[in-house]
Amino acid sequence: MIGRRHPVRIGLSARIFHPEKGSRGIQTKTLQVLEQSIAQWVMARDILLLMIPSVVQDGLLIRSNIRLRDYAEYLDGLILQGGTDVSPRAYGEEPLRPEWAGDPVRDAYELELLHEFTEAGKPVLGICRGMQLINVALGGSLYQDLPSQQSGPVAHETEAYDRNGHCVTFTEDGRFNHWFNSSAGGRVISIHHQAINRLGREVQIEATAADGVIEAISLKGRSFLCGVQWHPEFHQQPDTELLDCGPLLEAFLAAARR
Ligand code: MN
Repeated sequence: MIGRRHPVRIGLSARIFHPEKGSRGIQTKTLQVLEQSIAQWVMARDILLLMIPSVVQDGLLIRSNIRLRDYAEYLDGLILQGGTDVSPRAYGEEPLRPEWAGDPVRDAYELELLHEFTEAGKPVLGICRGMQLINVALGGSLYQDLPSQQSGPVAHETEAYDRNGHCVTFTEDGRFNHWFNSSAGGRVISIHHQAINRLGREVQIEATAADGVIEAISLKGRSFLCGVQWHPEFHQQPDTELLDCGPLLEAFLAAARR
């Protein structure tokens, strides 16, 4: 059949907010949301972006009616949004503090998404938590809390939140080096207190901060499975000299079109 190819369809994992004690109104419900700047970063490239709701929890859905596999077949690629901590139990540890317990519900949902998209041969890009989840899915582990477990000279999280930046450099001969046409890297917005500890299977380091903290990874081989610890969607700030992450997005979308 001769016809116009459909626009590239990218799925975005949801941030999940569970009801907390004392909540009122809509906050008594489980909320699944996207953060606007990640959506707009991707949509700036003429992409159809859809958020994929989780089907792992409460509600009327019967689990077997809807499979995340169907989303993986329909969509051309997946972006794992940033958000809350990955549960240490996902990499075989107990939380060192109750507040570092993460969200096992979101872990289960995103691990299934990741599995289905990679099984379907679709590219996956992980942002912040998404990168950490990719490493854990491949058998790696995380520092539960960088400042207390592996303190270094670079501030990876401050009160400045989406203005907290530091520099990264790309690995020589890595994919990022190739896409950006330089290993120089640049300044990125990076906000995290967890970080990669043990690397997962076949995971290649693509970028590091000056203190050695891993800031980007990819899976070795031909498929596209990449993660960045930083937030490319926060880089459209007028008064800061931040790394233009267009080459990363283009590489992801090129893989999605294949
Ligand atoms: Mn960082």
